[in-house]
Amino acid sequence: MTEAETAETAAPREQGRAWSFLVAGDDRQFQGNAGYEDIVEESYSYDSTVSNHQHVAVGDLVVVRNGKEALGAGYVEALQVLPHQEKVRSRCRFCGSTGFKERATMLPRFWCSRCKKAFDDPVVETLPITAFRAHYGGTWQPLDGCLDKVQLSELSPSRSHQQSIRKMHRHRTLEAIKARGVRFPGQREVDGEGGHRPQELPGGSRRATASVRRGQDAFRKALVRQYGLICAVTGAAPAEVLEAAHLRPFSNTQHHRLEEGLMLRSDVHRLFDSGLLAIDSRLVVHVAPSLAGHELYSALEGTPLRIAHDAPVDRAVIADHHAATVATW
Ligand SMILES: [Zn+2]
Repeated sequence: MTEAETAETAAPREQGRAWSFLVAGDDRQFQGNAGYEDIVEESYSYDSTVSNHQHVAVGDLVVVRNGKEALGAGYVEALQVLPHQEKVRSRCRFCGSTGFKERATMLPRFWCSRCKKAFDDPVVETLPITAFRAHYGGTWQPLDGCLDKVQLSELSPSRSHQQSIRKMHRHRTLEAIKARGVRFPGQREVDGEGGHRPQELPGGSRRATASVRRGQDAFRKALVRQYGLICAVTGAAPAEVLEAAHLRPFSNTQHHRLEEGLMLRSDVHRLFDSGLLAIDSRLVVHVAPSLAGHELYSALEGTPLRIAHDAPVDRAVIADHHAATVATW
């Protein structure tokens, strides 16, 4: 850290506010003001021209969203402040709006969506700003779209969906996230002076890549939206080990129906596909007798599926799998 930077770290987590940070489109990374790239899973950069920037503090809960859904959540564990920065901003020559677009081929080059005028040179100004970077430390939890933008709006007192930093109802947001199976770690002990320092985690980009891959699976995305980050057999689990399981083993079509899928923890998914675990039409779990020596799995015998009674699951497909599976036991 340079001398101009200051960092605030490790405050109580029980108090504080809640925010939703907007990242552009489906981009996982974007250029922050100070010239570095944020990894969505680790940090968020903003500056003093953004509404609510002055209210974000260590200990605040953050839900990161794109235009469609929640990507993940964490607590602000550290807040870097970079004073005396500059930001170049371009404005419409006629109305001063920043909301103009560059056109692909037409001239003049720029078109303003507010005043509907075209022009060649925007007005360019240099603004003195303070830049901020909020770090989540080890608190980040992937949400993988388990809350969509409508659900996020219901958790916000603000009507403005476009706000980069949007206020959220902290308690209700926490409850909603927990209800989707997400589990935050307890507050970490702070040792020594300065506490937990913001650092680039070596695994950061690898983690980000895995999360992009999960997000691209449309079938899994639909199941996460329906069931949250909850294994239907064993309950809440980290997003990283939750998979979209196909209940129909040899599907003839590429089209995946939501009714023919369940969220399963990866080991449970493997047992299900291997014919060592089945679910009957009353949605009760059965485990192959060959697993009797493995207490972790034999304990699942007879347990009810952890999904709502009116969940859109095709019981006939489940019964087919069950019948075919127990026939081999
Ligand atoms: Zn204009």
